[in-house]
Amino acid sequence: MELFDTPELAAFRAEARAWLEANVPPLGEEESGVIGLFAEHEDEEAFLAKARHWQARLADAGWAGITWPTEYGGRGLTPVHEIVWRQEAAHFDLPVGVFGIGIGMGGPTIMAWGTEEQKARWLPPMLRGEEIWCQLFSEPAAGSDVAGLRTRAVRDGDEYVVTGQKVWTSGAHYSKWGMLLARTDPNVPKHAGLSYFIIDMRQPGVEVRPLRQMTGGANFNEVFFDEARVPAEHLLGAEGMGWSVALTTLMHERVAIGGYLVGAAGVFDTLRRMFDRVAEERGVHPLVDPVVRDRATDLYIRGQVLRFMTQRIIAKLAKGEIPSAEGAAAKLGLTSLLSRLANLAVDVQGPAGMLGPEDAIDDGRWALAFLGYPGMRIAGGTDQILRNIIGERVLGLPGEPRVDKDVPFSRIPG
Ligand SMILES: Cc1cc2nc3c(=O)[nH]c(=O)nc-3n(C[C@H](O)[C@H](O)[C@H](O)COP(=O)(O)OP(=O)(O)OC[C@H]3O[C@@H](n4cnc5c(N)ncnc54)[C@H](O)[C@@H]3O)c2cc1C
Repeated sequence: MELFDTPELAAFRAEARAWLEANVPPLGEEESGVIGLFAEHEDEEAFLAKARHWQARLADAGWAGITWPTEYGGRGLTPVHEIVWRQEAAHFDLPVGVFGIGIGMGGPTIMAWGTEEQKARWLPPMLRGEEIWCQLFSEPAAGSDVAGLRTRAVRDGDEYVVTGQKVWTSGAHYSKWGMLLARTDPNVPKHAGLSYFIIDMRQPGVEVRPLRQMTGGANFNEVFFDEARVPAEHLLGAEGMGWSVALTTLMHERVAIGGYLVGAAGVFDTLRRMFDRVAEERGVHPLVDPVVRDRATDLYIRGQVLRFMTQRIIAKLAKGEIPSAEGAAAKLGLTSLLSRLANLAVDVQGPAGMLGPEDAIDDGRWALAFLGYPGMRIAGGTDQILRNIIGERVLGLPGEPRVDKDVPFSRIPG
């Protein structure tokens, strides 16, 4: 039983672990923790086929939508159950991350805002992993300030015509559906003129161009819309309500990222095992060096603080409360911890830390982590935006100046 597990949660944990042990291959010790972030998949079709296979198995066994209501194929349990499931699943080879944007963010948004027809059309194939989703919010000049976006959607009979550009769209290249935030009215203040659409990504007028990251992988894309078409019945919520609908997605994005990072809990142990392998190879343990010892101790203390902070969040969720500033602080703390950890891992390996997968220790995953973790400090709210939230909501500092809040969008200099 974990700290704060109630008897009911402990039973759920045992049930989850038993199913995982009976059905899913375990991860090797050196693979646990999220250190293979943003890797390139040599055969993407095979990777997607494997992901679909496992998602369907999870759905059949009732593990796909822990917090989804039972009427939509979920278990109707709490976010705390979801955390427990993720803690257990982190030790197994379940490559279903490509469905996270749909199930973690799109599904809850459709449940909150969709019509019965929309829910019936999109939720079942989403949960079973038959259709992959992406999030089309960020643009070249609208990231942290996403309400400043410029992609237009203009009504034309029973359809909307979409023209503009999105960027950093994770998984757009294999997605069937996109959650699109676009401007339908430029003559009202920026938050009021937005609408939220579900757009078919496989149509003329949608061009997806991969962006290659410094990890070598290409998980993000630029997406160009040139008079792409969206049927009016694919509008989620009313026209002009897009910002409120998007807030539902963004709230669930934080929760989804938090849940993903639960898997990182084991990464400190993974680092310790890597130290032991370096010691075997070189005959000297890295912790003999007082500087390495000092850095490792610092990371361990930060890790313990985060563990307790996570328990605080779990306790709040268990009471049915929504942790907002705590979530921001935990994401800030954890992503900075992971970056420091990966930096130490490659430093300890010395020049060997730069080697490719064939020659490097732990198949080069530490170099990937070193290059990939900085992205986690940007996605779902940058470090600076999270500090703003903490400053305003926890420390009571004055709010950000928002001078363009009440100005019609068309009068804001572009
Ligand atoms: C791994 C990853 C996955 C992503 N996936 C998606 C996706 O699937 N779909 C999608 O739509 N987007 C996605 N994004 C984009 C992400 O949402 C944006 O990168 C993020 O919102 C920041 O926006 P920006 O990159 O335009 O930076 P900007 O907002 O231009 O920020 C630039 C710098 O200025 C700072 N800054 C900005 N405003 C303030 C402020 N008010 N106060 C203090 N500092 C400020 C920022 O912290 C940052 O350091 C992803 C990004 C990453 C890294």
